[in-house]
Amino acid sequence: DTLINQIAAGEVVERPASVVKELVENALDAGARRVDIDLEEGGIRLIRIRDDGDGIAPDELPLAVSRHATSKIASLDDLEAVSTLGFRGEALPSIASVSRFVLSSRREVDAHGASLQVDGGNVGAVAPKSHPRGTTVEVRDLFYNVPARRKFLRAERTELGHVEEWLRSLALARPDVELRVSHNGRPSRRYKGDRQLEFSDTSAGERLGETLGEEFAKHALRIDHTGAGLRLHGWIAQPVYSRASADQQYLYVNGRSIRDRSVAHAVKQAYADVLFHGRQPAYVLFLEVDPTRVDVNVHPAKHEVRFRDARLVHDFVYRTLQGALAQTRAG
Ligand code: ADP
Ligand code: MG
Repeated sequence: DTLINQIAAGEVVERPASVVKELVENALDAGARRVDIDLEEGGIRLIRIRDDGDGIAPDELPLAVSRHATSKIASLDDLEAVSTLGFRGEALPSIASVSRFVLSSRREVDAHGASLQVDGGNVGAVAPKSHPRGTTVEVRDLFYNVPARRKFLRAERTELGHVEEWLRSLALARPDVELRVSHNGRPSRRYKGDRQLEFSDTSAGERLGETLGEEFAKHALRIDHTGAGLRLHGWIAQPVYSRASADQQYLYVNGRSIRDRSVAHAVKQAYADVLFHGRQPAYVLFLEVDPTRVDVNVHPAKHEVRFRDARLVHDFVYRTLQGALAQTRAG
């Protein structure tokens, strides 16, 4: 089983940033309002993620680290309309098979917390441990038992950069959550998070400045359009924003950060058609699609989705942005 988990880890766990992604997504699925991310040596030596979410019952800790055990979907019908970030039940066992791993947790209803250690896939026994409400996952010495994978890890700064880049894309989508990052014992980043609000224009607007800078926020054109059973909202930078670049292109489908060539093309086309030919657009765009019209189970790392009707999505995005951008030129 360890071997199978290590093979799966090859698809899910590429580097510290992918571990952080899976663990923070679990925290969000558990309803966390605040997530602390502590890293050492770019996450290679240590990744510790602590959340204030629902927690896990002591006797369910072994289940959480066993393969294809997910508490998030119960049937194929659920998979059709998955609303959580996770659903494959393979992140924890994969990560635990290639690191020294400790899962600690306590639910509100339990008097005592518990923890479970896994070393390179060898699962220990559940032990009592005091823990505030929520969950902490510690991942030490990533790939210590898989030298071939460890070789591909880059310098501390590079790995940290990948973690921070992913956190920025998450922060944009979840302005309601507070994210605090420390590196080698020093606070390195903090996204304040508006705990009172669910996702709202105000909190999202502030996040835009926090993550991509005030320049972007100042020159961002607000988009919000519904039609054809789809909704596109977010921001696209106006041409006066001169620092637009390909690394300021954020696309989300139903809250999930993804890459999609067809949608990216639609945005670029709309931008080029209206007036900004040859320039890269900068944008943060959220596309909301009926979950039954999009398949999120395309790739283990969930970087991509498949639309039932890709053409319709492409044209909707193109027309929405084309219209909004044309109006700014007219006005
Ligand atoms: P998935 O997210 O696809 O269900 P994972 O391997 O990432 O699979 O997690 C396995 C299970 O462990 C989850 O379904 C959930 O029940 C539990 N779990 C993991 N992380 C947390 C967390 N931070 N808080 C509460 N439960 C968690
Ligand atoms: Mg998960």
